[in-house]
Amino acid sequence: MGDAFRFADELGPARIVHVYEPSLGLRGTLVVDNVATGPSIGGLRMAPDVSTEECFRLARAMTLKNAAAGLPHGGGKSVLYGDPRMPADRKEQLVRAMACALGDCQDYIFGPDMGTDEVCMAWVKAEIGRSVGLPREVGGIPLDEIGATGIGLAHASEIAARACDFELAGARVAIQGFGAVGIHAARLLAEKEARIVAVSDSRGATQRQDGLDVAALVEHKRAGKPLNEFPGGEPLAGEALIDVDCEIWIPAARPDAIREDNVERLRARLVVSGANISVTPGAETQLHERGVLNVPDFIANAGGVICAAVEYHGGSEAHAIATIEEKICSNVEEVLQQAKRRGCPPREAAAEIAVQRVKRAMTFRRWSIF
Ligand code: NAD
Repeated sequence: MGDAFRFADELGPARIVHVYEPSLGLRGTLVVDNVATGPSIGGLRMAPDVSTEECFRLARAMTLKNAAAGLPHGGGKSVLYGDPRMPADRKEQLVRAMACALGDCQDYIFGPDMGTDEVCMAWVKAEIGRSVGLPREVGGIPLDEIGATGIGLAHASEIAARACDFELAGARVAIQGFGAVGIHAARLLAEKEARIVAVSDSRGATQRQDGLDVAALVEHKRAGKPLNEFPGGEPLAGEALIDVDCEIWIPAARPDAIREDNVERLRARLVVSGANISVTPGAETQLHERGVLNVPDFIANAGGVICAAVEYHGGSEAHAIATIEEKICSNVEEVLQQAKRRGCPPREAAAEIAVQRVKRAMTFRRWSIF
């Protein structure tokens, strides 16, 4: 098999498109991984160091995430080479050019990702009419503002806690990352009477074993103050969050938050992954062996893409919130039941469910796919 097919397996990728326009400095790649379940949805990532391989891996992750969430969408991803903090007019030119270059790829719907946001998606929509994660003014449901992913995490935590034989009410939760995902997860878990006992961001952390006042903490953060100066908690070094005594630990910041070199320090009974690839494979095996349940990223953090799909199909914000609850709850139930039955880590069960759905959808397809 030639180099061009080095990623090919039984699912995809269906196609890889490279975009190059030297006069603009435009360089980008689109990977449409699999569209058996419907046109692909996935983010446009902008960074100087992206690659075709990264794009493929992210596209595959979207195939599995969208299938696992039962969405009528396949997986795709696009990457644009460049520093997202470049001057705004230059960034606009590149994003619009990228959208136009991929305008004919009807099986790919742009979404926001690292380095791009709702404004970028509005430019894409204006150029080719196909993007999600839009501003409210052009029919969008602002998923970070409503906390789509945090809503899903709170539901996933409630179901998974029961599978671990404890109730969410009164359970102690530590959250790494206090941004769009972490803030809403904290707010909604506190509404469900969980105790948020520790929270960190890139500048520091705070803890309080009888529960932090989440509303006051959000206000403190929004005022631009470091979390370790929060008057309602005790300061904590960011890396010490892993040592906090709690029932639930939520990674909502960076990849590889739980690794082989720190997994032994984790004291929680349940991990609910908000951030993508937040637990390394080796650490995940160790968690499973210790009987710590890990609800994998592509099951627990699907709230954002579920919201985006509802937006794409013209649904309302209320419909998006209800759909996130319905889909996340049923998926977490199914994955945990199957993992228990087979005695395997939930990620293995989840991947198998997703792959089976994609393969079954592939049997329904027309012979001519483009
Ligand atoms: P964000 O930029 O709004 O927030 C990230 C937070 O993490 C910030 O508070 C930042 O200070 C903190 N952080 C960074 N490095 C840290 C570190 N080393 N220790 C502790 N905290 C640190 O991003 P977000 O939208 O909240 O996304 C968080 C993660 O969830 C990312 O990995 C993202 O890919 C993933 N995710 C987000 C969504 C979504 O809907 N926004 C959906 C799925 C997955």
